Amino acid sequence: MGAGPAGSTTALLLARAGASVLLLDRARFPRDKPCSEYLSPATTDVLERLGGGILAAVERTTHARLYGMKVVAPGGAAMVGRFRGASRPYSFAIPRTSFDAILVAAAARAGARVSEGTTVEDLVWDRGAVAGVVARSRNGQRATCRARIVIGADGLRSVVARRLGLVRTSPPRRFAFTAHVADVGGVDELGELHVSDRGYVGLGPVGAGITTVALVLPLSVVRGSGRDYRSEFVAELNRFPGLAGRFDARRLVREVLTTGPFAQWARVAALPGALLVGDAADFFDPFTGQGIHAALRGAELVAECLIPGLAPGVSRAYASARRREFAGKWLLERLIGLGVGSPALTDRVVGRLARRPDLADLLVSATGNVLPARRVFTPSALARLLW
Ligand SMILES: Cc1cc2nc3c(=O)[nH]c(=O)nc-3n(C[C@H](O)[C@H](O)[C@H](O)COP(=O)(O)OP(=O)(O)OC[C@H]3O[C@@H](n4cnc5c(N)ncnc54)[C@H](O)[C@@H]3O)c2cc1C
Repeated sequence: MGAGPAGSTTALLLARAGASVLLLDRARFPRDKPCSEYLSPATTDVLERLGGGILAAVERTTHARLYGMKVVAPGGAAMVGRFRGASRPYSFAIPRTSFDAILVAAAARAGARVSEGTTVEDLVWDRGAVAGVVARSRNGQRATCRARIVIGADGLRSVVARRLGLVRTSPPRRFAFTAHVADVGGVDELGELHVSDRGYVGLGPVGAGITTVALVLPLSVVRGSGRDYRSEFVAELNRFPGLAGRFDARRLVREVLTTGPFAQWARVAALPGALLVGDAADFFDPFTGQGIHAALRGAELVAECLIPGLAPGVSRAYASARRREFAGKWLLERLIGLGVGSPALTDRVVGRLARRPDLADLLVSATGNVLPARRVFTPSALARLLW
């Protein structure tokens, strides 16, 4: 269920291994998705492993290359961290309309049957296990699709996770607005994150003179202000000191997309007959830009656990494989997500990182998944970050 990065990649790997795969999505591709559209550098390695011409297709399509991240704190301190330890010193940034369509096409080429415009509404149960889904096509017809295994890759608002009763929410509770803006001043080969006492903005080039801009605000601010942040998008950006004057409201080249609230995660990512992958399994905060990598790595773990024969022990194997792979990412993503909610803490940490470029590189490379997150949690790294 869901043909975003998690669903398409899972479908591709399972179809390649000989499984009969039906990939359902309510959208028609190419479709857009609220995102900052940066593929962390470790994502390039996964795309290379997937083969099938996917990385070449990404390189052929309009994209930008990012060599690191710049973070600007509420008080004005700025740090730059560059990607170290990656097979390439850069990451790709590419519109989701192109990236997701490349993955769906690759899944179809691998043999998955792709049904677009098909919305999953419910699960089918058989003797206590999930045994299929009820789906509605665009012309309103409902059909029951039975399957040995249902994989919920249907994103942040996953119907599969909700029907399984697994959804949990946790702070930080935030909401996002994203847009494409042409000719933004001062954009170069770095992604940028600007934090204020109200929220933060992530921005970076995606090629052809277009910059993706994501405004992320606390849910309380969005609900309490009574303002329409879609129509006041550029005015809100101008309230961030490092951004004022860089945007021209007439150069918005795509409607402002919204998503939230997050964070949301599933209590467990596997139950008899069903697995969750990608945002359907967990999505904490977009600050570190790890979601697409987690979606693709999660798909690889699904394939590793399922392909040996849809064995009964798969739930436990998948759950522990996810824990091994993602425990550090979960902690880092949540701590940073919570930390940027405190302007004083952000000022302090960014100020230290500005004076210690090696530490800034470590943090940016860990969030880019090219260095293990545990390297940030050593007593010496933590002490240098905070004192
Ligand atoms: C503001 C913001 C900025 C972000 N920036 C970055 C970034 O720069 N880098 C990064 O790596 N990550 C980023 N992320 C996270 C990233 O967008 C997600 O982690 C990623 O899209 C997860 O992929 P997915 O396949 O799990 O879900 P999705 O990409 O959301 O795909 C889910 C699919 O399921 C389909 N679907 C949903 N419900 C149903 C249904 N009932 N029936 C059928 N189909 C259904 C949808 O149409 C969709 O195609 C950002 C997220 C946000 C909110």
